[in-house]
Amino acid sequence: MIRLPELTEPIGFLFFCVLFFVIITGRYLVIAGLFYAIFYLWYPERWQKKKLSKRAYPPRQLKKELGWSMITSLLFSVMATLTLLLWQKGYTRVYTGLHASDWYYMPLSLVLSLALQETYYYWLHRWMHLPAVFKRVHKVHHQSNLTSTFTAFSFHPLEGFLQALMLPLTLLLVPLHPVVILVQLMIMSFSSVINHLNIEIYPRYFHHNRLGKWIVGATHHSLHHIQFRYNYGLYFTLWDKWKKTESPAYPELLNKTFAEDAPSPEKKN
Ligand SMILES: [Zn+2]
Ligand SMILES: [Zn+2]
Repeated sequence: MIRLPELTEPIGFLFFCVLFFVIITGRYLVIAGLFYAIFYLWYPERWQKKKLSKRAYPPRQLKKELGWSMITSLLFSVMATLTLLLWQKGYTRVYTGLHASDWYYMPLSLVLSLALQETYYYWLHRWMHLPAVFKRVHKVHHQSNLTSTFTAFSFHPLEGFLQALMLPLTLLLVPLHPVVILVQLMIMSFSSVINHLNIEIYPRYFHHNRLGKWIVGATHHSLHHIQFRYNYGLYFTLWDKWKKTESPAYPELLNKTFAEDAPSPEKKN
């Protein structure tokens, strides 16, 4: 039987970093690539009229986004390896096995973990929009003024590091089952690609029902990339509604998004 190297040995640490890098990069390329192919390449005429902004992408944008995304993947991989080491040493509150209370605790802990991440990200995002921080750090993500599926992971290394810090911090505080962690990572991957798609894929009724109006979609986040000073939320609109940072243009743009001809958000400035 093949024996995996110990995490505590330098070679073992490096092995797991490489393993996580392959998994994280693969997951990112598959999900972002699949959405890119479906919405931009395979049926372009079908989705063209639904595009929030119909401008063409600057020639080198994709290459830049892929470059920054590889650095983000690397940071996430090192953080994942460190988290695994913390778990192995017994410092996290990750639990395994199934318990009688898991039928309600698992969904509850997922909601709690998402809410913690949302709060962390909202305030981190507000901080990153302070002029001095913006021009050194967050500007990289906003260079993609017109977002694409590959914008989802395109961050300055400091932003990538601060984002990667969230899950290990949660695991020090909240008991989470590995299945819940995996579900959260999948939600994270899909929602960031969907929110940068530049095409609203959630249906009209979803945005107007009780749950949907609290969820961030492509229209919400594309306004953030166009207007800069609104819509800081990650998954939920709750903090933006509460702190009055939701774009005043959002409801109208959302309505127009579902009309025959999709509007251009840049006209909203
Ligand atoms: Zn921003
Ligand atoms: Zn973004």
